Amino acid sequence: MREIRLHDTLSGELRPLRPRDPGRVGIYACGPTVYAPIHVGNARPYVVFSLFKRLLEHEGYEATLVINITDVNDKIYAAARESGVPSGEVARDMTARYVSDTDRLALGRPDAEPKATATIEPIVDLIAALIERGHAYSAGGDVYFSVASHLEYGKLSNRPLEQMIQSEDDQEGRFRKQGPHDFALWKAQKPGEDTAWDAPWGAGRPGWHIECSAMAEQILGLDFDVHGGGSDLIFPHHENEIAQTEAGRGAPLARLWMHNGMVRFEDEKMSKSVGNIRSLAGALDEVGRDALVMYFVSGHYRQPLAYSPEALRDAARSVERVRDLCRRLDRSAPAPAGLEPRARAFFDALADDFNTPAARAELFEWVGEANRRLDLGERVGVGALDEMLALLGLERLLEARFEEAGADGAEALLAEREAARAARDFAAADRKRDELAALGWDVRDTPEGPRLLRRG
Ligand SMILES: [Zn+2]
Repeated sequence: MREIRLHDTLSGELRPLRPRDPGRVGIYACGPTVYAPIHVGNARPYVVFSLFKRLLEHEGYEATLVINITDVNDKIYAAARESGVPSGEVARDMTARYVSDTDRLALGRPDAEPKATATIEPIVDLIAALIERGHAYSAGGDVYFSVASHLEYGKLSNRPLEQMIQSEDDQEGRFRKQGPHDFALWKAQKPGEDTAWDAPWGAGRPGWHIECSAMAEQILGLDFDVHGGGSDLIFPHHENEIAQTEAGRGAPLARLWMHNGMVRFEDEKMSKSVGNIRSLAGALDEVGRDALVMYFVSGHYRQPLAYSPEALRDAARSVERVRDLCRRLDRSAPAPAGLEPRARAFFDALADDFNTPAARAELFEWVGEANRRLDLGERVGVGALDEMLALLGLERLLEARFEEAGADGAEALLAEREAARAARDFAAADRKRDELAALGWDVRDTPEGPRLLRRG
């Protein structure tokens, strides 16, 4: 079991992971608000934390990964108004879409995916505790957290008070709250909002921040090991989560705070509000999951990651290089002697603040050396390659074999998919892909054109 060190946003230091319960690690990462299909930027934490869990398991820990779903929110109400559909239906549809899109990444599901609307009782309980301890007050049916009551407020984001603007505020809220930096824990039902729950201070729904405090505590308990999410959530979301739990429970929320950098596209953070998004489903259609996963691990999780057609093509080429080697390996040959230090360095790099680009470089050293030996006529076995690929979510490269696809009509379907794509009829292209999947074929877009890959 290697010691795993992580950069902790709260202390600003590289710190060893010391689990609350020896041998067991609980991770909570903030998941999507389900009002639109997720984009490549939203998918980054899903990939980072799913793979980080693999590292923990590889090192012998029992790991629990929780990624929540925010399914009641102003953005969902707005999407419901726009489409004339009840907000609960928007949330249900977009949750199903999120699950099927992330399923296509084939990294497994988190151990728990709590929904805010299924956690109302624990949320109300935490708000009641905050009111009782004098850290929150109700005003006009809303409930606010009193920032002035909690002296440690601001310790995560470390920014001056005048820059602490609570972005979730609405207009009426500004007049109701006692302090300008106070934030909503409970929002009274407004006209046009079609979902509300009863609470001692009036019908309404939870604020975004309190949902995560309550869901994390309910599943992982207090003082759990790693809280993660995008760096855009440090303030106000995570700052507020910390304040709520510490003030309401008198205990820390999490031991380590692990934040991933933003995916950037056209020199800006990829976000729906900027309007520069690429949907996860679209990116998967374009290059396939192997190349997309390779793209995600090519950057250090804490750094911004540039999204571009070239970056995806580079990743697709890297995948091809590994796949080509895998076809040359001889499963009956012994593990290649002398390559163990590469595999060790690979895992050491991951244990050192989850440095996937450094690990990936070691993987390609391994690939290069194996190819050199094969060129010399040596037989080369799989050795540690399967472990390394599995850590990066690329284990399928070892199993993948192209097969003849004629008898079941897959090639005809592939041609129809290409015709639909050329006509920019992406819905029809998606249907053809689904039909191929039902026959047991994945479509992978390579620089030489689309190819069929036998599933599993
Ligand atoms: Zn959250």
